[in-house]
Amino acid sequence: MTAPEWVPVREELREEEPYGAPQLDVPVQLNTNENPYGPSAAAARDIAEEVFRAATSLNRYPDREATDLRNALAAYLGHGLTVENVWAANGSNEVMQQILQAFGGPGRTALSFAPTYSMYPEYARNTHTRWVEGMRRDDFSIDADAAVALIAAEKPDVVFLASPNNPTGTTIDPAELRAIVEAAPGVVVVDEAYAEFRRSGTPTALELLPEFPKLLVTRTMSKAFAFAGGRLGYVAAEPAIIDVLRVVRLPYHLSAVSQAAAIAALRHADGLLAQVDALRATRDDLAAWLEGEGFDVAASDANFILFGTFEDRHATWQALLDRGVLIREVGPVGWLRVSIGTPDEMEAFKQALKEVAR
Ligand code: PMP
Repeated sequence: MTAPEWVPVREELREEEPYGAPQLDVPVQLNTNENPYGPSAAAARDIAEEVFRAATSLNRYPDREATDLRNALAAYLGHGLTVENVWAANGSNEVMQQILQAFGGPGRTALSFAPTYSMYPEYARNTHTRWVEGMRRDDFSIDADAAVALIAAEKPDVVFLASPNNPTGTTIDPAELRAIVEAAPGVVVVDEAYAEFRRSGTPTALELLPEFPKLLVTRTMSKAFAFAGGRLGYVAAEPAIIDVLRVVRLPYHLSAVSQAAAIAALRHADGLLAQVDALRATRDDLAAWLEGEGFDVAASDANFILFGTFEDRHATWQALLDRGVLIREVGPVGWLRVSIGTPDEMEAFKQALKEVAR
């Protein structure tokens, strides 16, 4: 896509494509790391009732500070966090863009380690922040010494670390995280969009918040909470950090409908999260199956698996799609990413992959 000459767009945007995976109507959709299980009927009814209540006063602007929702999110996170430690927006995408609006910008630098979530450089572009990318090792772990050296050279104002990382599913080693946070002169954002899917024994960066005031931990209700359509992401940090995010947010950015729906969904946390254990087990089964079939498999703490390698990954992706199975062509050359679905969807994926790989 190229904007016509007469469109006076910023030059660096002229040839850019809007971000997004294909939204195709095929039987087995395993390409955007959604939760395959929708909310229960009881949860859906409660959400609808809460939204109905909000609808009776839609003539008024919503609570700009989303106080009830932030209280509920803090209670869900635990770790001694309160409303002052939590901020929320329309998806963690918006939260992270707000973080760059506040901590990045012209003359400032953001840094991450590739392969990682491909929206990070887009937030940087959107906010005129210089973007620097270090590389991960071949097993997708981060070399702490190299990372600390890169941080010393580039002096980033913002470091993004996805853990579990997308598209690899791998988590950062706690000692390496600590080394990076100690070396970083600015803020460090640990993007824990997939935290609820991590294997037992894998720590969360929330534990480090009391020790490191410039650490931010982002989460989302899109994945484990089966709330991708509700658009609700959030961040936990020191109150002084939250306060500057409140400066850059647009007034009333979170609609009354979004706030009401998310508050109701959080009341059903236990039920919504009940499927997470099943998804973790399905993920571990699929990883073992893929290894048994002779594929390379990245160690996953998320609700997806990166596997490979294929000489022509696009051909494999297309052949799977021809069989009604949509996965994601993303990550390092030769690798593909599959989201964890229902047992039936996993069976369809395995059958299709067996046919295609043969
Ligand atoms: N971080 C990571 C690593 C992700 O994979 C995603 C979604 N694909 C997000 C953040 C954003 O999720 P959302 O905006 O739905 O909260």
